[in-house]
Amino acid sequence: MATTDRLTGLFVLWYFNDRLKEETHRAIRSHRPISVLMLDVDHFKRVNDTHGHLAGDAVLKEIAARVKSSLREGDLLARYGGEEMAAILPETSADGAGRVAERIRSAVESKPIESSSKSLQVTISIGVNDLTRIPPSADPTLTASRLLKGADEALYEAKHGGRNCVRIYAGSAASAESLGRTSDIPVTFGTWPS
Ligand code: GH3
Ligand code: MG
Ligand code: MG
Repeated sequence: MATTDRLTGLFVLWYFNDRLKEETHRAIRSHRPISVLMLDVDHFKRVNDTHGHLAGDAVLKEIAARVKSSLREGDLLARYGGEEMAAILPETSADGAGRVAERIRSAVESKPIESSSKSLQVTISIGVNDLTRIPPSADPTLTASRLLKGADEALYEAKHGGRNCVRIYAGSAASAESLGRTSDIPVTFGTWPS
């Protein structure tokens, strides 16, 4: 079974999910940080509608390359869905992952993508989550899915915050209490950069 996607060369979803479980297990066992990013191309339907599906494909391929080159060697980047990507950043907490996400966002925005003599300006939105922001659990499967869900909620906030931005999941009330934060801290979403 192929582990990489033909268009982007990124890892496929099932492989990402397997590795996320493994890396989450490792992080829990060794009390080390781990972060997850969810990335989505902004208004990508417009790119297809205006310039055609082939141009859309070229944009996806170039974005994947830029995201990948902004990550470290031990990080794992996958094509999560159509124009959605997800990354695992081992040994990284949310503030570090937020900086990485901002670098990625800027790498996509800063230079238009050239596709068959057209110059296409695109942006992406990114949601970030880490292990400290979800309820503690020894179950790697549950933890992995909570990590993803939080990153996805943060991505949703980034979309609703105007797109082309990074949002960090503020965390669940249970995780706030386990960290000794006062429970009256509202469960909201952080902004990066602040
Ligand atoms: P938003 O900013 O809210 O994310 O808007 P959007 O237009 O990006 O979101 P939407 O989910 O409406 O559209 C995603 C589009 O991505 C629709 C789909 O046809 C396109 N798409 C998905 N996979 C591929 C692909 O492999 N190649 C191309 N060219 N387009 C793709
Ligand atoms: Mg999109
Ligand atoms: Mg999408």
